Amino acid sequence: MISNLKFIVDNNVGKLAKWLRIMGYDTRFFDGSDDSQMVATALKEDRVILTRDTQIMKRGVVTSGRLKAVLIQSDKPEQQIRQVVETLKLDCQFRPFAICLECNQPLKESSQQQVRDQVPLYVFQTQNQYVECPACHRIYWRGTHWQAMTKKLEKFTKDPAGEI
Ligand SMILES: [Zn+2]
Repeated sequence: MISNLKFIVDNNVGKLAKWLRIMGYDTRFFDGSDDSQMVATALKEDRVILTRDTQIMKRGVVTSGRLKAVLIQSDKPEQQIRQVVETLKLDCQFRPFAICLECNQPLKESSQQQVRDQVPLYVFQTQNQYVECPACHRIYWRGTHWQAMTKKLEKFTKDPAGEI
């Protein structure tokens, strides 16, 4: 159950979106100014709200437990992500390469031949597994900085002195 968590990230903690997507969690970024809209989306799509806005925490849907929201304590992205991982017991290796970091779409597998003209030659020659975003058409492969970021994230969440 807990692995099915989905999120909506308030614009005051926007950097969390990318890190949650790296782990494979479906994460919407809310860039509007009307909190009611964010709350409505969260309820409709069963998403956990991540915010620094104490007003949201006082709403009836949140205090009653109908809607889950986490009040982020720090203004530092690395401490924010650690708080979320620890509070909700997230798995940093939940679903690597599942979600587009830019637009939160589920990634689809592509064959080496399909991406031939879209990736640098040295990548084509050394990588045989690719995934593509159906929305923005970005192509990801394991040799990207993705792997490094996942490692960083894991190390970081285990080591309180670490930095992203
Ligand atoms: Zn995309």
